[in-house]
Amino acid sequence: MPRDPRYDILFEPVKIGPKTAKNRFYQVPHCTGMGSGYPHTLAAMRGMKAAGGWAVVNTEYCSIHPSSDDTPFAHCRLWNDDDVRDLALMTEAVHAHGALAGVELWHGGRVTMNRYSRLGLIAPRELPSAFLEPVQARRMDKADIRNFRRWQGEAARRAVAAGFDIVYVYCGHAYLPAQFLSPLTNDRPDEYGGSLENRARLVRELIEETRTAVGDRAAVAVRFNVNAFAGSDGAMAERESRELLEMLGELPDLWDVQYGDYHVDARSSRYAKEAAQEPFVAFVKKVTTKPVVGVGRFTSPDTMVAQVKRGILDFIGAARPSIADPFLPKKIEEGRLDDIRECIGCNICVASDYYGTPIRCTQNPTMGEEWRRGWHPEVIAPKASGDSVLVVGAGPAGLECARALGQRGYAVHLAEATTELGGRVTRESHLPGLGEWARVRDYRVAQIQKMANVTVYRDSRMGATEVREAGFAHVVLATGCAWRRDGFGRHNVAPVPGAERPQVFTPDDVLAGRDIPGPVLVYDDDPYYMGGVIAEALRRRGLAVTLATTGGIVSEWTIGTLEQSYTQAQLIEAGIAIVVSHRLSRIGDGEAELACVFTERPRTVAARAVVLVTLRQPNHALYRELTADADGLAQAGIKSVTRIGDCLVPGTIAAAVHDGHRCARELEGASPAEVPFRRERIALTPL
Ligand code: ADP
Ligand code: SF4
Repeated sequence: MPRDPRYDILFEPVKIGPKTAKNRFYQVPHCTGMGSGYPHTLAAMRGMKAAGGWAVVNTEYCSIHPSSDDTPFAHCRLWNDDDVRDLALMTEAVHAHGALAGVELWHGGRVTMNRYSRLGLIAPRELPSAFLEPVQARRMDKADIRNFRRWQGEAARRAVAAGFDIVYVYCGHAYLPAQFLSPLTNDRPDEYGGSLENRARLVRELIEETRTAVGDRAAVAVRFNVNAFAGSDGAMAERESRELLEMLGELPDLWDVQYGDYHVDARSSRYAKEAAQEPFVAFVKKVTTKPVVGVGRFTSPDTMVAQVKRGILDFIGAARPSIADPFLPKKIEEGRLDDIRECIGCNICVASDYYGTPIRCTQNPTMGEEWRRGWHPEVIAPKASGDSVLVVGAGPAGLECARALGQRGYAVHLAEATTELGGRVTRESHLPGLGEWARVRDYRVAQIQKMANVTVYRDSRMGATEVREAGFAHVVLATGCAWRRDGFGRHNVAPVPGAERPQVFTPDDVLAGRDIPGPVLVYDDDPYYMGGVIAEALRRRGLAVTLATTGGIVSEWTIGTLEQSYTQAQLIEAGIAIVVSHRLSRIGDGEAELACVFTERPRTVAARAVVLVTLRQPNHALYRELTADADGLAQAGIKSVTRIGDCLVPGTIAAAVHDGHRCARELEGASPAEVPFRRERIALTPL
């Protein structure tokens, strides 16, 4: 289908200094959990975005010197010439598809830890490390400032040698140049402190150093946190942002603007919707003639067009939308809007980086698998035979498996017990803030509907007899799981006394809309979002709610998804009583007993109902029944029975989608090797 002319504006070329971007789709720098430790993985992933039509593809943050070392968080490095080769892999992969490659040169100042380099932190003044690390930064003297400028220049020269087209001065988030800008972190009495002109002096010098280093071989970009002046009074912060742009606006070739720290600018869909930054960055284009890029988890082409036409942005910046769908620009260009895999804003990608692994994505199971497994987000091997496949269960695992098998060309029947497709995703999308999660279902259902070889049967609960009688060569079971009702979990290794009482519920009951009396105790022994969201949902029903968690804070794992602080604040504001570091020890009549996880000291809370958020139990009865009868399978002509997703091992939605996808790729393939993917190796070369 040809492109809709109303999106033509998105495909106009835009000049960035000496370079020209072929369209307005701009993958801003974003963390990947890869960095210089996974150069092939990184190059293949970034190259895939270029193949998908992004005109500019950037690195993540790229350290310019060992005094800015973010280990164990993965980041790129251009510390010396030896680092050029790794990053050249990426620029080659990006250039192969006619895109520009950008590098975000970075110095963290106090917002890093230097755990690996063991060098002292530096900052405009004495400050603690921004991390929970018993170190502090020393005040930079003039020699330090000269060195910092030199490191930026040398890294910029290496960046050009590596083939980069755009070189950043990173004055975003709360890193070192931003620390100079803010009066809260800069009390210097010299020419680098005091007036805004003085606080901005270093940024100006860094732009000049970078320009001198790259000449006209690369463009110079500045990433700027328009909230860098926060903490001084609001009006002054806004005024200084504007004044800074008025002072430096014409110096770089591009402004990449963002608002606040990662917790703010990468908020999950629970806490921010599309284009959330617009009110804060809209002024920038009024102050500079240089092109401006900004993010907003843009997935709607109409919103993108409006951003350009209304003069907010020149480039549609994207991190997460480009992770969920590396081919988003191509799909708009080819008029295939219903093929777009829209980001759901769950921040599983952010959490994987935070917890130290190459990123994964709930919507895009091929993210991070481009090099090590050779997976392409849009291409898959054709079917190996004329065999047919029955997929049982239409949750995220079953839907993705049926979709990918359909894409391979198999004749697929997808049988779902209920009327609704989507399984847990459909149910959970009705919980507070999780509406966008339904996109996991919507993308897959829309794809399946277009496939003549995939047939969906609703209201079709399959037992072993039905499966055997259905006459399929391969059976994939994606029957999901159920929350346990006995309190067994991380902290209680036996059922909780009283769990058999009728006033005991699980998240499945809340999702099913069952009547639950108050006051209610939500017992959370699961580190992710469910306990907090269930408490919020019950509070919205008007119940008095106590949330007791075994963690030291609520929904502890959501630190990684950048949601924890918002969640705890929201629960407090909602009037939910929070008890931390307690396990449930007994359920009584109208009350429940908790025990401190450190001292075992008991504590009683009033509770006419208790909701247990502990472990989940796989629905694997069907699998067991089928596989226990090998003769029955053989007589039915069933060659394989495979279970996937939560019915194999309960986990995240991302894990279920990935499992469904992997199963579809591997059907009738060679048995995967014991280590089923390639690994990056350190080549030992003579020194
Ligand atoms: P996952 O996350 O692994 O995809 P879900 O719990 O989201 O798991 O989805 C499982 C789906 O399987 C649900 O929609 C459920 O109704 C369906 N299901 C469970 N058992 C059967 C069965 N025997 N026959 C058909 N569908 C089933
Ligand atoms: Fe979007 Fe979630 Fe994928 Fe991240 S993991 S890109 S937030 S869908």
